Amino acid sequence: MYTTLRPCFGCTKEIIQAGIQGVRYLHEWRHPDDEVWAQYEKLQARLPGGVKQVDTADPNAEWAVTSRRDAATTGHSE
Ligand SMILES: [Zn+2]
Repeated sequence: MYTTLRPCFGCTKEIIQAGIQGVRYLHEWRHPDDEVWAQYEKLQARLPGGVKQVDTADPNAEWAVTSRRDAATTGHSE
């Protein structure tokens, strides 16, 4: 699966349940709570193909980063 932002906790659960093998994302996302982040990393480790950032230039990066900030502060999908 290819996605603009690293999937949030809720999306990761759905990705695993859907049988997706791995995720490639463009922009980093991090849960602000360290304990939740640790659980999140354990969950993402269950994807056989892993969750990896794609290293490429994004002409719309400003848009994506603004969206990421909004998602983090609203607790998107959790
Ligand atoms: Zn999500």
